[in-house]
Amino acid sequence: MRTIQMVDLQTQYRHIQQDIDAGIREVIDSAAFVKGPKVGEFAEHLASWLGVKHVIPVGNGTDALQIALMSLGLSAGDEVITPSFTFVATAEAAAVLGLKPVLVDVNPDSFNIDVEAVRRAITPRTKAIVPVHLFGQCADMQAILEIAREHHLRVVEDACQAIGAEYRFADGHIAKAGCMGDMGCTSFFPSKNLGCYGDGGAIFTNDDALAERATQIANHGSKVRYHHDMVGLNSRLDALQAAILDAKLPHLEEYTKARQAAAAYYDKALAGNEHILLPWRDEKSTHVFHQYTLRLVGCNRDRVRELLAADGVPSMVYYPVPLHLQEAYANGKWKMENGKWGCPVAEELSRCVLSLPMHTELDEEQLQYICAAVVREVES
Ligand SMILES: *Cc1c(COP(=O)(O)O)cnc(C)c1O
Repeated sequence: MRTIQMVDLQTQYRHIQQDIDAGIREVIDSAAFVKGPKVGEFAEHLASWLGVKHVIPVGNGTDALQIALMSLGLSAGDEVITPSFTFVATAEAAAVLGLKPVLVDVNPDSFNIDVEAVRRAITPRTKAIVPVHLFGQCADMQAILEIAREHHLRVVEDACQAIGAEYRFADGHIAKAGCMGDMGCTSFFPSKNLGCYGDGGAIFTNDDALAERATQIANHGSKVRYHHDMVGLNSRLDALQAAILDAKLPHLEEYTKARQAAAAYYDKALAGNEHILLPWRDEKSTHVFHQYTLRLVGCNRDRVRELLAADGVPSMVYYPVPLHLQEAYANGKWKMENGKWGCPVAEELSRCVLSLPMHTELDEEQLQYICAAVVREVES
């Protein structure tokens, strides 16, 4: 049996090596490493795959979030509502801009932002909601967009874990993750569902004016070279990464299916165990399984994790400390906002979640071995 990894990028590369190598060679031959034609080509291909008007490539997912928030023209002290149970970048992007990340609780089943908690957190200073489509399943966008409309708020989706996930609105309309709010953000970090071989990210939007602003901000606030109309930053996807992503994009659907097949195997093999709650499926969203995350009950999660490691089964805890309890966000100037409602669900999840190996190359022998180990160790 091949060694089990959380993410197996080596095997994935071997299957598409010719295309990747050809793309890299083309960029090196052209010597157009920064802002070369490859970057624009990839952005166009991705936009048409997503069915969104604009894809703006940037340096990474965190930059994508920051630039999206900058494009909205918010002012220092404006409040941005975001879930406490997420990767830190979501709140960090607001905090570095002097905006107030207001961290709210999540639903225990979906792991996604609790829309009632969003409603409770709205104040006259609230300007935006940043929902996260955590682990690959969309947040309740119907409700979030309704709240935003009602209170004149902007919505920036953190779709870093959910590229390709599809959300179905009540009227039957279907849209892809990151393409429903004012803007959406994704990351091409190597382990993400569409990952490059370094750092990368992108912003999605159907709004021409926001696309223009974001493009300008990512380019030192400049439209005409050496003329700077606004304060921007330097954030770009490099051409080698764009070539790698352009070679991988045609495989994204097949990669998603491979993840879903692995998830279906886990679901079946782990069903009915009193210590295991399987990932919940929202009928409004497809799940692209960036992570396959269990909730363990009536056993010691951290001990199970150690026993699994000894069995040769890696696992991870996403996330062990919710953001409202992190030193940087729990104290000082955010204490009031973030302590107000509490996030008991996020705290409980941080104690009981366990993510199993999830990638495009898991074979049946590995899945069978992992499931047998999980069942054995949660009982021990
Ligand atoms: C990965 C990730 C980010 C940040 O992406 P980087 O490319 O690493 O900057 C932001 N939000 C979430 C939810 C993520 O998973």
